[in-house]
Amino acid sequence: MAVLTPKEDQEIRRQFQELMDGCTFIRSESDRSLIVRAFEFAHAAHASTRRKSGEPYIIHPLSVSKIIAFEIGLGATSIAAALLHDVVEDTDVPLELIEKDFGPRVSIIVDGLTKISGVFDKDSSLQAENFRKMLLTLSDDVRVIIIKLSDRLHNMRTLDALPAAKRLKIASETVYLYAPLAHRMGLYAIKQELEDLSLKYRHPLIYQEVLKLLHDNEETRSRIIDEFVAPVREKLTSAGYQFDITGRPKSIYSIYYKMQHKNIPFEEIYDLLAVRIVFDPEPGIPEKNQCWSVYSLITDLYTPKQDRIRDWVSLPKANGYEALHVTVMGPHGKWVEVQIRTRRMDEIAEKGFAAHWKYKNSTTQQESELDKWLKKVREILNDPNADAIEFVNEFKMNLFSSEIQVFTPKGQIKTLPQRATALDFAYEIHSEVGNAAMAAKVNYKLVPLNHVLKSGDQVEIITSDKKRIQREWLDYVVTAKAKGMIMNAIKSENRHRTEKGKEMLENRLKEFNLVPNARILKKLMDEHIVVNKDELYSKIGMGLIDLEDLQKILRKNTPNKWIRYWQLQIFGPKGRPSKDTDETAGVSPDEGKEPAAGMGKEEKPKVSFRTARCCTPIPGDDVIGYLAPNGIVNIHKSRCPNAVKLVANHGNMIVPVKWTSYTILSFLVRIEIKGIDRYDIYSQITRTIAEGLNANIRTINMSSHDGIFEGLLEIYVRNTRDLEQMMDKLKAIKGIESVKRLDIRENEDAQG
Ligand code: MN
Repeated sequence: MAVLTPKEDQEIRRQFQELMDGCTFIRSESDRSLIVRAFEFAHAAHASTRRKSGEPYIIHPLSVSKIIAFEIGLGATSIAAALLHDVVEDTDVPLELIEKDFGPRVSIIVDGLTKISGVFDKDSSLQAENFRKMLLTLSDDVRVIIIKLSDRLHNMRTLDALPAAKRLKIASETVYLYAPLAHRMGLYAIKQELEDLSLKYRHPLIYQEVLKLLHDNEETRSRIIDEFVAPVREKLTSAGYQFDITGRPKSIYSIYYKMQHKNIPFEEIYDLLAVRIVFDPEPGIPEKNQCWSVYSLITDLYTPKQDRIRDWVSLPKANGYEALHVTVMGPHGKWVEVQIRTRRMDEIAEKGFAAHWKYKNSTTQQESELDKWLKKVREILNDPNADAIEFVNEFKMNLFSSEIQVFTPKGQIKTLPQRATALDFAYEIHSEVGNAAMAAKVNYKLVPLNHVLKSGDQVEIITSDKKRIQREWLDYVVTAKAKGMIMNAIKSENRHRTEKGKEMLENRLKEFNLVPNARILKKLMDEHIVVNKDELYSKIGMGLIDLEDLQKILRKNTPNKWIRYWQLQIFGPKGRPSKDTDETAGVSPDEGKEPAAGMGKEEKPKVSFRTARCCTPIPGDDVIGYLAPNGIVNIHKSRCPNAVKLVANHGNMIVPVKWTSYTILSFLVRIEIKGIDRYDIYSQITRTIAEGLNANIRTINMSSHDGIFEGLLEIYVRNTRDLEQMMDKLKAIKGIESVKRLDIRENEDAQG
């Protein structure tokens, strides 16, 4: 790789000087030298590499560290870690060396960043799992995420250098995960820029269009803003406030988002016009009161829109955001949104977490809000039941929302995602409250557990020790926490029932000096139409299977229900029909009198056939026959690829065949069922099949995931007509979405 030119080196040093000059807030000599050493180290390590754009690689970490220092305001450790963030990942430098030179803190952060990058930036399809891993580092050090966000921001700012396909992927990922994450970290400015840049690469035309609209509209907007601001400025000044007031353009992305999602034209996005008042609060008076005083001064001038007051000074958002928003009627009949913040609130709004650390001791409230959120993230992460995709969905929802805040009967605040139900609330209190929940009282009115809560509701959970957890509950809740707890409860209840049932059966068998064995279990399973041992035990445990007539059942001889034969008409090459039976299938109702032409000798009156294992045709299927050299006709489905091959290569050995009559032989077919996992769907499926006169289950395999279940059934049926009837019945079961017949593949046991 090309070595740096003196000019490039000069530029790099100039940029580094800019960083140092800007870091006036870092004064300690050891902190400043840490940054210098980190820079020299990274500079040397990246010396021979360049970015896709051709510029020296070190420019990237340098830019990231500037974002960290100037845009977020983190300290020396983070700046050093940002300078070093790609060293372990992209060069030969081992982590141990970083630790030796820069100490454990920097090394832990760099390690976190290397790990994330290792799983996240590659062309991995396991985005969800990777995202989860990334968030695991939250438990180590939040700065890892903040530096990662800055890294992504710089990459987005320089995305032009990458090929189009890569740009699209990175831009999509950015808006899907990183922007919400920045939002959750309270990094509004960064979130907004990530969204705007993402839009620019994902929908360049729309981006340009909104940009143009904003531009065209600029003059009018600034005139209205000026007109609006002048009296406000006067009033605040004469009231003795120190403040800044700025007209704030809305982000391109948020305009696009509103136009898209609320389907309103550009002109009607009323917070298009927004001003922000940031003031220095009077010491000794609560900031909240002062915000409301400013509000009062403004509403003396302009009429507020009643439903557009957002009070985040009394109750900050869960990401720590504090401000008072009000929309008022401005000049020329235009709505103007006014954001009222103190200096501290403004810094928190812009710099998120970083600012919180700075103000950590000023109030205890925000810190605990953030801690609560981090605790929640860890809770989700530590839940062994949460799978990655679910986790990301839940997490994303948490990021975007839109929380609601509700109260316990004692007035304690609980923060829940929007759409949370009374049952979510119950599990938020405690798993035992959730498991025993029966109903709820919301604002003193009785409601069911799936009642959706609103901000400000007071919620009381009514419990009962008789109530049993139901599978439907999974549909009632939106939080991962509640879902996990319900799943756990269902599992342990099942386990408990199964164990109880097993014990009951063993005790009953003991009375006859018997122990459970495969034969006994099989008889019981057949008798009660259950599909496996666990279900049998579980039903015994629930009292659904009575063991009183156990003896009678055990004495029963299982009749062979399925007489195996069917008829196939095979036409010889001259087109004369000949009837025959499957050699594997047993009895023929009609001893073939006529020899098959072509097979045609008297000494061999029958043509044997067998159904091919590759496609397992059953009566009613469209089939062809292939006369194999051994004299046996192999029956394939016409659409079977092997049949196509045979027809192509051995056309002369193909014999037309046709099913002529269906009798009571049963054939094995495999059916795939998909649907919503409803409470009793399993028993409905088994009942439907068992009730169909002409079918019998061989195996049944069901799995459920995220409320969706998939079942694989192997069933004996007589023919396609019966099969179709049964499939129609299955399709009619509520919750079932698809029922499909699968081919049974070769080397699997096709005849049962
Ligand atoms: Mn990087």
